[in-house]
Amino acid sequence: MAFELPKLNYAYDALEPHIDARTMEIHHSKHHNGYTTKLNAAIEGTPLENESIESILEHLDMSNGAVRNNGGGFYNHSLFWSIMDPNDKGELSGALKDAILDAYGSIDAFKTAFSTAAATQFGSGWAWLCVHKGGKVEVCSTPNQDNPLMPGVSCGGTPILGLDVWEHAYYLNYQNRRPDYINAFFNVINWNEVAKRFEQAK
Ligand code: MN
Repeated sequence: MAFELPKLNYAYDALEPHIDARTMEIHHSKHHNGYTTKLNAAIEGTPLENESIESILEHLDMSNGAVRNNGGGFYNHSLFWSIMDPNDKGELSGALKDAILDAYGSIDAFKTAFSTAAATQFGSGWAWLCVHKGGKVEVCSTPNQDNPLMPGVSCGGTPILGLDVWEHAYYLNYQNRRPDYINAFFNVINWNEVAKRFEQAK
């Protein structure tokens, strides 16, 4: 069964001024749509056609560039849209907050670790908050469309929060000011969704 481009739970302009409508429209309708179409083409007629995207990535042959890049792109952007929401931001609380405090000591220290991972990822890539089995959380980053579900990639575990730091994610509004985009991202995180993913994955 072919993968479908997920619909957003909000309008393209809903994340302004933090993420602008034109960027959102191009990012979702062109970039994410492109990854989706190319993923489907890459798995058509293969056994991967019947697997979930998580299973495809967890058992990935890393030398398969088409599935690595487009499967990663499909999954990463699907996660990214879901963990932002202008209407339902929630609060960082409960077991997820406790896990972050255990790992980083304070919320500010976590934000610094996440922001540093996002800012120092050279070239295109993603910053992640991942959860390991047992509930320990960890920040890391990956290049291109890789993610920690893939074999041997970065910190491992299940990503529950991700930030796209490809230039296509911010350049129209922020140009080269990636740190400003990273700061703005914290204003639109849907912590309810991140907490839900934490509970499912831990
Ligand atoms: Mn992107």
